[in-house]
Amino acid sequence: MSAAALGTILAERIRAEGPLPLPAFMAAALMHPRFGYYTTRDPLGGQGDFTTAPEISQMFGELIGVWCLLAWQSMGMPSPFVLAELGPGRGTLMADLLRAVASVPDFTAAADLWLVEASPTLRNRQRQRLDGVAVSWAERVEDLPPGPLLVVANEFFDALPIEQFECQGGLWHRRLVGLDSAGGFAFVRGPAVEPPFAPAPDGAIVETCPEGRRIAALLGARLARDGIAALVIDYGHARTAVGETLQAVKSHAFHPVLATPGQADLTAHVDFQALAEAAMPARAFGPVEQGSFLVRLGIHTRAGMLAQAAGPEMTADIAGQMRRLIDPTEMGTLFKVLALAHPAVALLPGLDP
Ligand code: SAH
Repeated sequence: MSAAALGTILAERIRAEGPLPLPAFMAAALMHPRFGYYTTRDPLGGQGDFTTAPEISQMFGELIGVWCLLAWQSMGMPSPFVLAELGPGRGTLMADLLRAVASVPDFTAAADLWLVEASPTLRNRQRQRLDGVAVSWAERVEDLPPGPLLVVANEFFDALPIEQFECQGGLWHRRLVGLDSAGGFAFVRGPAVEPPFAPAPDGAIVETCPEGRRIAALLGARLARDGIAALVIDYGHARTAVGETLQAVKSHAFHPVLATPGQADLTAHVDFQALAEAAMPARAFGPVEQGSFLVRLGIHTRAGMLAQAAGPEMTADIAGQMRRLIDPTEMGTLFKVLALAHPAVALLPGLDP
């Protein structure tokens, strides 16, 4: 079937049922079982559509490994515990994390490894990357086994379907996806709803991520009951903000958001405040900026060690990778780090209490 098949399916559905809720459109675009963006491809890296921190440098996963080890130790080294990654992409972060903690056999022996991944294509990539490692897969967070839980999620929450609301005459309307006169996808204003937002100027847009909040609530309840912690790294707002952030990216360039469902990545800024609130009674740490988090965890020292081991011809490359991760003009301030933990946890490395 052609690449436009999902567009045809969704357009037929709109003709039959009327405009679609945005989360339904996004969920199909990203995870349709046959034609979804993530279902059908590995989008990461230079040849793909976008690059993520673990694909930029091994230092990212290594420092997160150190963070996991310290978080586990600060919670009394529970054994066994579930070590889970949400949306692991190519499995690079997990591979780097495991290498960094390999010298602490108590940790690796206690860790029951799980990857939460909905895409069969990316599961295969992860299986190849983690060849020889005992790891299990779950489709959803709620399918993880019970017990103490340590979770890492890098660029997972930005890929979850969002809702948009638009203000008109002091009322907030849900934005739906309909068809324009030429048969193309277009936003249409749905009925007025009562979201808890203050009135705003006409045309103002607010976004929410019900699925993100649902997963944060699930994690929060579990962490408060069984310990340990979750580390959420993503691009987004520290505080809930008005404004449209939904974007499509294809071949490292912006792309019209609704134009080609299933063929471009769709993401939106993560609202860290909303995640922290949803996760209560778990305790929230941060968010802090990614640059500051990685510096506090010792990225300069790690870069120096790597450069020394790799030789002088690699020094500039390693410094460049570090800069991409921590510089304010690159990923350093747009990306943020939020940790959720059992309420008894007082301190976590790299984060403000
Ligand atoms: N963490 C990786 C990949 C980020 S891309 C990295 O940093 O490189 C987003 C990842 O989340 C992909 O692996 C994608 O398949 C997965 N994903 C997106 N939505 C998901 C969902 N609803 N359930 C499970 N996995 C999902």
